[in-house]
Amino acid sequence: MPEPLRDVIARHGLQATKSLGQNFILDRQLLARIAAIPGSLNGATVYEVGPGPGGLTRALLDTGAKVVAVERDRRCLPALAELENEFPDCLRVISGDALEIDERREAGDGAHIVANLPYNVGTALLLRWLEGPWPPWWSSLTLMFQREVAERIVARPGSEHYGRLSVAAQWRSTPRIAMAVHRSSFVPPPKIASAVVHIVPAGEPPGVDPLVLEKLTAAAFGQRRKMLRSSVKGMPGALDALAELGIDSERRAETVSVEEYVALARRLS
Ligand code: SAM
Repeated sequence: MPEPLRDVIARHGLQATKSLGQNFILDRQLLARIAAIPGSLNGATVYEVGPGPGGLTRALLDTGAKVVAVERDRRCLPALAELENEFPDCLRVISGDALEIDERREAGDGAHIVANLPYNVGTALLLRWLEGPWPPWWSSLTLMFQREVAERIVARPGSEHYGRLSVAAQWRSTPRIAMAVHRSSFVPPPKIASAVVHIVPAGEPPGVDPLVLEKLTAAAFGQRRKMLRSSVKGMPGALDALAELGIDSERRAETVSVEEYVALARRLS
């Protein structure tokens, strides 16, 4: 039986630091359930952001995965070094900032990304993984978010959560909420509930410039209560594109489907 995570944390003096988004999960059964979400990882490579004391890291190693983990808090490195000794050749820990490293080079094409993300950088990292060349270098994303962010990622038109993040996550990938996680599962407990989102890449609709789609949704949802004819009028050609596609310019951003945004962006690309 591995040492209880509570003892690992006490032994290494890893009191959680709020500024690093540290809310640790100590329940090994819950960690094993999260590690199972991507499907079989036996022999696969996993890229983990923020291993902390190493609870999720061990659960991933137990599946037979090879893990490349990047941790910003140097206090965690001795605990992670113990795990490296226990799983020789299977775990590589990088000391650094996930926002700055060349993750593709470190983890390699085809890696699965699994992380209990620090909340302060979670959305920035997700957008980075959703942008860029397609198909992406990663095979799947299994990520813990605040529940409200998870709902924005999977939201459908008409929902109050539907917005730029929903379109970014759905136009060429398929997200789902895989697990709700109660706040009491973390030490210390955050103020709000969390959820694990699982995202797999899908085919990319042809002829769409991702930057144009991003600009379009930024304009539309930037003024989500306004009619499209007012919110997107600053984009050259947008009003013509609405007319050509038969999209009523009096509709508001939150009623426009992902497919309609894609069709509009294609016209403007
Ligand atoms: N994986 C552990 C768990 O599930 O209990 C810890 C998760 S905790 C929510 C987030 C972790 O990310 C912390 O260990 C924190 O130090 C680390 N972290 C915060 N910002 C980071 C960054 N920019 N790059 C890498 N790690 C970061």
